Amino acid sequence: MPVSGLPPYDPGNVFARILRSEIPAKRIYEDEHALAFHDIAPKAPVHVLVIPKGEYVSVADFSAQAGAEAVAGFWRAVGEVARQLGLEGPGYRVLTNMGPDGGQEVPHFHVHIFGGRALGPMLS
Ligand code: C5P
Repeated sequence: MPVSGLPPYDPGNVFARILRSEIPAKRIYEDEHALAFHDIAPKAPVHVLVIPKGEYVSVADFSAQAGAEAVAGFWRAVGEVARQLGLEGPGYRVLTNMGPDGGQEVPHFHVHIFGGRALGPMLS
C-alpha cells in the first residue's frame, strides 16, 4: 500500500504499460533500475521522464519503500540520462509531482528532466 495516502498502485497505469512495451514511447535510456523516455507533450526543448522499474505510486512511496540499491540506481540513471543529453554543462531541472496538489497525473513515480534553455525561477 502507498505510504502517501494515494490509491494503491495500478498496474494498468500508462507508465507501467510503457515499461511492459504495451504502448510506445521514445525511449532513450534503460538499465536494470530505470527507464527514460521523451515526454509526449514536451514543456521545454528537452523534456524527458525517468521512471523506476519497481511499482511505486509517488516519490513518497519510492523513498519509503524502495531498497537502497534501487534508490541509488534510479538516481544514478537520472544523472546519466542528463549527462547523455548534454545537459551537465548548461544545467537542467529535475522535478517530481506528488499527489493532487502536486499535479501528479500518472500514478507511477517519475521525475521530469527539463533543459535546453534557461528555465528561470521555479513556479513562475
Ligand atoms: O508529473 P505528471 O504525472 O503530472 O506528468 C505526467 C507526464 O507524463 C506529463 O508530462 C505527460 O505529458 C507525460 N506522458 C507521457 N506519455 C504518456 C502519457 C503521459 O509522456 N503516454
